[in-house]
Amino acid sequence: MKLVYTDVLVIGGGLAGLRTAIGVKRRGLDTVVLSLVPAKRSHSAAAQGGMQASLANSAMGRGDNEDVHFEDTVKGSDWGCDQQVARMFVHTAPKAVRELAGWGVPWNRVRSGDREAVVNAEKITITESPEAHGLITARDFGGTKKWRTCYTSDGTGHAMLFTLGDQSIAHGIPVMERKEALALIHEGGRCYGAVVRDLVTGELTSFVAKATVIATGGYGRIYKVSTNGIICEGTGMGIALETGIAELGNMEAVQFHPTAIVPAGILTTEGCRGDGGVLRDVDGHRFMPDYEPEKKELASRDVVSRRMTEHMRKGKGVKSPYGDHLWLDISLLGREHVEKNLREVKDICHYFLGIDPAVDWIPVRPTQHYSMGGIRTRHTGESTALKGLFACGESACWDLHGFNRLGGNSVAETIVAGMIVSEFIADFCQSGESEISIPTALVREFHAREQARLDEILTSKGKERASDIRRRMEEIMINKVGIFRTGTELDEAVDELQDLLVRSRSLGLESRVRGANPELVGAYRLQKMLKVALCVAVGARQRTESRGAHSREDHPQRDDANWLKRTLTTWKDEGDTLPAVDYEPIDVASMELPPGFRGYGQADHRNHPDTEARLSEVTAIREQLSGADRFAIQNRLMPFDHQLPERYREKNECLEEPVEKTR
Ligand SMILES: Cc1cc2nc3c(=O)[nH]c(=O)nc-3n(C[C@H](O)[C@H](O)[C@H](O)COP(=O)(O)OP(=O)(O)OC[C@H]3O[C@@H](n4cnc5c(N)ncnc54)[C@H](O)[C@@H]3O)c2cc1C
Repeated sequence: MKLVYTDVLVIGGGLAGLRTAIGVKRRGLDTVVLSLVPAKRSHSAAAQGGMQASLANSAMGRGDNEDVHFEDTVKGSDWGCDQQVARMFVHTAPKAVRELAGWGVPWNRVRSGDREAVVNAEKITITESPEAHGLITARDFGGTKKWRTCYTSDGTGHAMLFTLGDQSIAHGIPVMERKEALALIHEGGRCYGAVVRDLVTGELTSFVAKATVIATGGYGRIYKVSTNGIICEGTGMGIALETGIAELGNMEAVQFHPTAIVPAGILTTEGCRGDGGVLRDVDGHRFMPDYEPEKKELASRDVVSRRMTEHMRKGKGVKSPYGDHLWLDISLLGREHVEKNLREVKDICHYFLGIDPAVDWIPVRPTQHYSMGGIRTRHTGESTALKGLFACGESACWDLHGFNRLGGNSVAETIVAGMIVSEFIADFCQSGESEISIPTALVREFHAREQARLDEILTSKGKERASDIRRRMEEIMINKVGIFRTGTELDEAVDELQDLLVRSRSLGLESRVRGANPELVGAYRLQKMLKVALCVAVGARQRTESRGAHSREDHPQRDDANWLKRTLTTWKDEGDTLPAVDYEPIDVASMELPPGFRGYGQADHRNHPDTEARLSEVTAIREQLSGADRFAIQNRLMPFDHQLPERYREKNECLEEPVEKTR
């Protein structure tokens, strides 16, 4: 048995995994990062539009601060998020952007003087102040009150990931590519590392660690059409689920992005609409203002995706051999803007559609994009159920996004969570609490179990093909667990997925090669993907309300009275065909921002019994402290500082709010 010991095992070499590894390494811990692909090819590289942080440098961002970012995030989440986590996040995001700038991310910058921009389909002139010249600028994004999304043209994720990749090298962190974690090693509610397969040789290695971090990204590829890279299969969530102990949170919260190209499903960034692009129907009519007069194309993604689908259902879509679509028009931004700030979009349109978006409209349709749910953690990033297991980034339910994530808040989360969670991991590893003394027999047991599973698949005479089952799963998910959901379709989805899971226990392979063998890989990942899909479908079936991206046509109202709670799913027994479902209440009485209307989308909802009382308390505190500074008011409403690692507690400076340094 090949065995590696380390302090911190990080599974995932995307933004979240790399930033976590850098954080623990800087605290003097030994760490190893694993990735399915070269780390710089992780899916984070695909992020286009930008990263939210309330720097308030540009003219259109003036007046922005952590309070506004917090309110946008909570409303975006449809009150599903953890408000403490949202506060920790908005407070740390400006530090994260500035740290990345220091490491070399070439953020677009403010240039003083006049410049032209398109807002609400009209050209306007924006005047940038001389004191902001050279500072990091920001663009507009959906669901935000201010222009807050920092960007590097439309290649933000690429720039961030390459910078972090270089920083990992500079910090001497070993990043082992083409390594796949197959199972977590655990006993007695404590995680001890993972069994890992080399995707080239097929050899297994067991990694034993004081802390294990899952940063494996989302599960978009359980859907037939997704903007996600093909490695986003959710197997990190699958291995957590297969412990039988770790909980997954809010798996039914699946985001559809309004503007993926048809038919390929590749994303055109929200930055297209943020920069002034509009949506048009079959008649060339700009329809979003009819539905959302306030935010128009820049309502939150869940709302825009639903409005587009509604509009197509009314017969206003453009017919195509690949189904109906709508148009995204960025031609009104002008060639110079498209070629400078949206150049990846231009390339995507050129190579995958054969069109020039500076002139032609882009065929788009809402498509699966992001998973708000994931491994349920505390604010420290540690699993709520399995000690020594941590998660961050898209694979985690920390829970910053609740039932809908705002554009630009995900890459921001990967870095901020990496910064914060790595501090908690380091504290844990440097405390007596983390000491482990496990027998090698335990490691050998897990190692042998994984080897036996692989051998069984390789030698099985089963007749089922993994590719057939997977294709059916993808169709079920897109057709029955999509943007709009109904109880009847969800019942069918759950029944069919269960059937597929049973069938997946009788797989047979054409190729029995032990090393590089895509058929084998597809086969052993399949059950994990099906279990993840079942958590999504079952969570959606049980949740008889509509909240954020979870939209039930048979239960259209947001029902705070019964559903202001997080869904928790676990997989108790290997032979089960359904997850166990439990719920975690969200405490209204301690919310800084009690539930209400988001300002876009549907206006009516059923109140939680505690909402009125908390609203009165919040109003009374605000009246009592009227005239006090915003930090004092915030601190009375919902203190969060004590939850943050000390090094990130300091106030953020911006032009309108200079701060006196405390150290
Ligand atoms: C096209 C597109 C554009 C986007 N644009 C934006 C944007 O502009 N702004 C924004 O905020 N968000 C954006 N997002 C979302 C954002 O990019 C992702 O949510 C985020 O980058 C995820 O980062 P991560 O580190 O959590 O995971 P990833 O970057 O997906 O990394 C996962 C890592 O885990 C590894 N891995 C997976 N499974 C295993 C396993 N079993 N064993 C070992 N390693 C494993 C992979 O190899 C990879 O290294 C976009 C998403 C898409 C699809």
